[in-house]
Amino acid sequence: MEQKRCISSLTLEQLAAELKALGQPGFRAKQIFHWVHQKLVTEFSAMTDQPKTLLATLEEHFYIAAPQIERRQEAKDGTVKYLLRMADGNCIETVVMRYHYGNTVCVSTQVGCRMGCRFCASTQAGRVRNLEAGEICSEIYTAQKDIGERISHIVLMGIGEPLDNFDEVMRFLENITSPEGVNIGMRNISLSTCGLVPKIDQLAEKKLQLTLSVSLHAPNNEIRSGMMPVNDAYPVEQLMQAVRRYQDTTGRRVSFEYSMVRGVNDSDACAKQLANLIRGMGAHVNLIPINPVDGSLTQTDCYRGREYDEPRHVSIHPNNRFVYLINEKGNSMTYLSFDEKNGKLKALQVLPTLPDTYTGEGQASASLLSKNGEILIGSNRIHESIVLYRIDQNTGYMKELGYYPTLGLTPRFISFNRDYSLFYAANEDSDTIVEMRLCEETGRMEYTGRIIHTESPVCITFR
Ligand code: SF4
Repeated sequence: MEQKRCISSLTLEQLAAELKALGQPGFRAKQIFHWVHQKLVTEFSAMTDQPKTLLATLEEHFYIAAPQIERRQEAKDGTVKYLLRMADGNCIETVVMRYHYGNTVCVSTQVGCRMGCRFCASTQAGRVRNLEAGEICSEIYTAQKDIGERISHIVLMGIGEPLDNFDEVMRFLENITSPEGVNIGMRNISLSTCGLVPKIDQLAEKKLQLTLSVSLHAPNNEIRSGMMPVNDAYPVEQLMQAVRRYQDTTGRRVSFEYSMVRGVNDSDACAKQLANLIRGMGAHVNLIPINPVDGSLTQTDCYRGREYDEPRHVSIHPNNRFVYLINEKGNSMTYLSFDEKNGKLKALQVLPTLPDTYTGEGQASASLLSKNGEILIGSNRIHESIVLYRIDQNTGYMKELGYYPTLGLTPRFISFNRDYSLFYAANEDSDTIVEMRLCEETGRMEYTGRIIHTESPVCITFR
């Protein structure tokens, strides 16, 4: 049986084409668009001026996006946070904030997110799927009907990276700003990105009057790569060039979001670097609090590695009690325990990421936990290998299992595929990605024989 499509996702032009194909007169498209996007009905039967035969046909082929409010939390300042259940059972978050200039809705654009920002809870289970344009509209309509007041401003800063769902977000913007719909001004919309450079360029070409908000969070690659893996693919210099191109093309002022993390990106030196980065741009910088992720370094405590360690990547065990830092300069892995009661971190163990027999310099670059958190993998760029540790599930302590060369040079990024059945090491200098398979039970790695050739891989993502 044909799957029903979301009528709220169609632009007015697309709706007109659909209705024309059904032999309907031209004026029907606007009427139906009004019902969905102005009168905010969620049932075809509510469209009282439409012929019954047409409504039956629409019912057969389409549905109107109408999420269920699964949970609603209202704060004293009037902020309302919703957990919305979509038609397929997936849940997303939407937030209404009351400001003196109007009601603002923060919308999600994806179910989950694959960008992997280390301070963000939304990315922990990866990206489940993109939201359709109509589903994003329905977040706003649901909130507007619930609070009984008009929504005048939108921020695309909820779950998901909007530019990773480019086409649906563009259709959403077209519908939500349409004079035939709720007609929210494009200037009242902010779109946040973690820094997908090619998509920023693509957005610039659209010359929209919205505000681009860039999640910068750190003024240099060293700190930013540790917080946001996307920075490995699009480093700060490339990102800033794209932002300047965006400004030149659109003439719009850009905002930068900067979350202050104690001991990580809040030094005087960072402030100066940030000032240098944006000098002459006429940009806004928003200093924002980080939403706590259970067990994150930012919620309650700050661990300062030893001076020669230079922590680079953080892996948090699924039980939220064990935290592992890979120390770039110290070529080692530090195990910290996290006490959920008092929110404190405690360093308990340091193990090298190089074999005893190796005398040259190493450079630890990434760490990763296996599906059940039983194996910890660290990569070492100079030694061109990965090292495996067995994690004691009760105490969190690491025990070395062995080393595997990554069949190339400089493994900079390591990743499992979505179901953890395959493991990949991206060798930046030898332009290869090697595929391996981990047996979590035995702690052994096997090469699958597959090596993917690609130019300087620094990041791996799965659709
Ligand atoms: S892009 Fe946004 S939603 Fe995705 S992981 Fe980063 S902060 Fe979280």
